[in-house]
Amino acid sequence: MAKPRIISGIQPTGKLHLGNYLGALKHYVELQESGKYDCFFFIADLHSLTENYDPKQKQADVLEVIATFLALGLDPKKSTLFLQSAIPAHTQLAWIFNTLTPMGELERMTQYKDKAARQKQNVNVGLFTYPVLQAADILLYKPFGVPVGQDQIQHVELTRMIARKFNTKYGELFPEPKELLTPVPKVMSLLEPEKKMSKSLGDQHVINLTDEPDVIKKKLARAITATEGGSENPGVTNLLTLLEQFDADKAKAFWKQEADRTIRYSDVKAELTDTLDHAFAAFRKEHARLLAHPKECVTVLEAGNKKAEKVACATLDVVTDKVGLR
Ligand code: AMP
Repeated sequence: MAKPRIISGIQPTGKLHLGNYLGALKHYVELQESGKYDCFFFIADLHSLTENYDPKQKQADVLEVIATFLALGLDPKKSTLFLQSAIPAHTQLAWIFNTLTPMGELERMTQYKDKAARQKQNVNVGLFTYPVLQAADILLYKPFGVPVGQDQIQHVELTRMIARKFNTKYGELFPEPKELLTPVPKVMSLLEPEKKMSKSLGDQHVINLTDEPDVIKKKLARAITATEGGSENPGVTNLLTLLEQFDADKAKAFWKQEADRTIRYSDVKAELTDTLDHAFAAFRKEHARLLAHPKECVTVLEAGNKKAEKVACATLDVVTDKVGLR
């Protein structure tokens, strides 16, 4: 019997950070290694055009994501790794889904509202219909699950709504995929721990997977920790939650110290710097090697594109008949 399928994508918008890793990428590798799923992971380059960007940088950003995929352990023999824009079926299905999606549903999307507020000079229609393209990205592959961070739950809900609408109007075709969350579906910013860690806040808010230990140390030195006498401490919670993901015992000891107020935040930061340095040392090395061998990365994508295209075209073929275009 065919294995249940999962699919997820990452935008090529620069370096990937601990939020991407703990919310999504680490999970991709675990799901792949479980051997239970038919895994599809892609680089969402079309989505990334909705934000302000430099066209000359885009190919380097694509390379950054595929090198990160491979250096973290995604294996083209086990998972299909591909580039969204190489498969025209994504935009073709998105158009059909556009005709099924009420404007009001898209106006509710919090990510659209956040991004529109952030890039007031560039509130483009692509930003608005982004979740519809995402529904097409997902449903073309008829997956059972979509590993994502918490910020994507609303978009996966919309995907299910679009699947239902299509099935009701044109006849049963799409499953209703569910989001697959990690234990830490929302990693917070170092400097504003009430906001999610995101490149768009600035480099000092995030720890990139490629950051060298001296950079991590400097960023953590500035990370927000306790406020005098406050009981709610989101900055400390964030740092200890991060540590917990890599060394549960050490985090447990610090949680105890936090409770009895003997904790020294400089110790937490030093421990976290060391822990992250060790956790990503091999990754940094392999990532650097891959960036120096871009052909290796391109070959992987070309093979993955072919595999993805087969699946996507088969679905689009059925859609074309069902909606009456043929
Ligand atoms: P994107 O940058 O939108 O392509 O995000 C790629 C993946 O990383 C998505 O599954 C997001 O949900 C996830 N992600 C991004 N930022 C965070 C964060 N701060 N915490 C947890 N997951 C995140």
